[in-house]
Amino acid sequence: MRKKVIAANWKMYKTPDQTRDFFREFLPLVSGHDRDEIVVCPPYIDLAAALDSAKGANVAIGAQNVHWKEEGAFTGEISPGMLLTLGVPYVIIGHSERRQYFGETDDTVNLRLKTALEAGMTPICCVGEVLEEREAELTEDVLRRQCVRAFHSISAKKAAKLIIAYEPVWAIGTGKTATPQLASEAHLVIREQASEIFGKEFADNLRILYGGSVKPENSKSLMSEEEIDGALVGGASLDPKSFAAIVKY
Ligand code: PEP
Repeated sequence: MRKKVIAANWKMYKTPDQTRDFFREFLPLVSGHDRDEIVVCPPYIDLAAALDSAKGANVAIGAQNVHWKEEGAFTGEISPGMLLTLGVPYVIIGHSERRQYFGETDDTVNLRLKTALEAGMTPICCVGEVLEEREAELTEDVLRRQCVRAFHSISAKKAAKLIIAYEPVWAIGTGKTATPQLASEAHLVIREQASEIFGKEFADNLRILYGGSVKPENSKSLMSEEEIDGALVGGASLDPKSFAAIVKY
């Protein structure tokens, strides 16, 4: 049985005060919930407030990106060691908004992933096709290519903590959700590709989350799929009641 991960991606929303307010309301709603791993990934400036608020609770904290060097002249970047020192073990890597707006490529995803894994972090690596690729029936090719490049020169042993998020770009922030069946089909492709690279045992244990307009109304049907090992939630994770409802689908 793979333990599900329900992760919040807050994107560029909330201040430290708003972060504390969120946890004040959210934590009692999920207290004692240990069926799934709960992760909240706020902007960097909110990490300290989130860690402080979630101390001793069943919620882990993650970042939304990480650089591939430990330190250096890289203005605006944050390293894995910096996050770990703070107490942040999870990190989202290769989100489609980073690929779309900030020049993230399969190669930089690979560099970030390699460094994060080597440092002992738990990366949530995002893959997914854009609408034109789905319409041109290129989804499988795109997912395989993104996985092959992201996992390049990473061993199964090093990749042990890896989590994948399948996020069809056409479903992110659009209100359009992949059907549970369509998401499952994509997850199977990813699992098969992971099996080819890392071996069957690794792939059998690999957690693949679905992301793309997950909300309280659709989380149960998505999470009931055997292939879906959790969710990466954007918009609906900003409200404590809505995120708690998703966690408790
Ligand atoms: C995301 O940001 O990863 C995401 C899936 O966003 P949303 O839930 O808003 O579609």
